[in-house]
Amino acid sequence: MPSTGDFPAAETMNGPMNAPTAPTVDLTHLDHLWFQVAGTRCNLTCHHCFISCSPRNDAFGFLSLAAVRERLAESVRLGVKEYYFTGGEPFLNPDMTAILVETLQYGPATVLTNGTVFKDAWLARLRDAERESLFSLEFRVSIDGFSPETNDPIRGEGTFARALRGIRQLVDFEFLPIITAARTWPIEDDQPVVGRFERMLKASGYTRPRLKILPTLQLGAEADRTCGYRSSERVTPEMLAGFDIRQLVCEHSRIVTDRGVHVCPILIESPDSLMAEHLAEAAAPFKLRHGACFTCYQYGAICSNPSSGSKSQSGESSAGGGSTAAADNPMP
Ligand code: SF4
Ligand code: SF4
Repeated sequence: MPSTGDFPAAETMNGPMNAPTAPTVDLTHLDHLWFQVAGTRCNLTCHHCFISCSPRNDAFGFLSLAAVRERLAESVRLGVKEYYFTGGEPFLNPDMTAILVETLQYGPATVLTNGTVFKDAWLARLRDAERESLFSLEFRVSIDGFSPETNDPIRGEGTFARALRGIRQLVDFEFLPIITAARTWPIEDDQPVVGRFERMLKASGYTRPRLKILPTLQLGAEADRTCGYRSSERVTPEMLAGFDIRQLVCEHSRIVTDRGVHVCPILIESPDSLMAEHLAEAAAPFKLRHGACFTCYQYGAICSNPSSGSKSQSGESSAGGGSTAAADNPMP
C-alpha cells in the first residue's frame, strides 16, 4: 500500500524519467475540477486499485462540504466547466450528498463510485436536486466482470451482487449510470466481454446500459498484482509530435485533495504532483515523467466523461444507450 509522501511502489522501483528529458504539458484551461472527496478510504480493497484504497488507508483524508465549497467558489472565477468526485469510495464521506447537491448549482457533476453503499434517501435527494438543476449528475459504477466469478476475485467476495444492487437502485431513481470495467483480460477479448456485460446488465433490469472499458494503471495494488511500469514505458518529446495533447487529463484538469491541488487524479501519491494550495496557483506546466503518463498517452482521455454541459446542451443524462469499449476513467 502506498504511504504518505512516497512514490508508488512501481515508480520507486523503476524511477520516474529524468526531469530534464521529460516533455511538459501546459494547463491550457481548467475545464474539469476533480475532488478526491473520500481520500484513500474505501469499504473495498480491490486488488487492482492504483492508489491501494482500503478501509484502513487514511493517507489522504475526506474533504468536507466547507472545503469543497471554498474550491467551488474559486472555480467559478477560473471558468471551470465540470466537476468530478472520486476516492476511495465517495459515499463514505458523510457530506457527499450535500456536496453533490451544492455542486449542481455550479455545473455538471460526475461521481465515481463502487455502488455498494447507497441509501435510497441519498439517491432520492440527489434525483430531486438534479431535477431542479440546470446541470446533469452522472454516476460511474465500477464492476470488473460480468459475473461473480469474473468480478469478485478482483473486487472482493460478494461485490458483484452488491454493485448490481447499487445499479438497480440508481436506475430506480431514474439515473443511467455509466458502468466502468477495468480491462483485466486480453484486449482482443473486448468485444465478447462487452457483449457479456450488456446481456448481464439488461437481464438485471438496466435496459439502456452504458459501458466503458478502462485500461489498468500499473501503480499501487495493481503494480503488486501484475507488474509496475518498465523504465522504457515513458512519454518522450518525440512521441508528442502530432499527438492531440487535449487527450491528456492534465491539459485541462486539476484535482483537490486534503493536501492541496495536484496535477491529476492518477498521480496524487507522487510528491511532484502536488502543485499548490489554491487552484489559481496550480497552473504550472507538468513534466510527463511517470509510467502512468505512458498509459494516458496510449489510451487517450482516460479520466473525462463524454458528457458535459447543461442538460439542455448535452442531453447526456437522459440519452443513455449503447456501450463502448473505449478507454475512459481508471477510477473506482
Ligand atoms: S498521469 Fe496522465 S493525466 Fe497525470 S500527468 Fe501523466 S499524462 Fe497527465
Ligand atoms: S478500485 Fe475503487 S472500489 Fe476498489 S478499492 Fe480502489 S477506490 Fe475502492
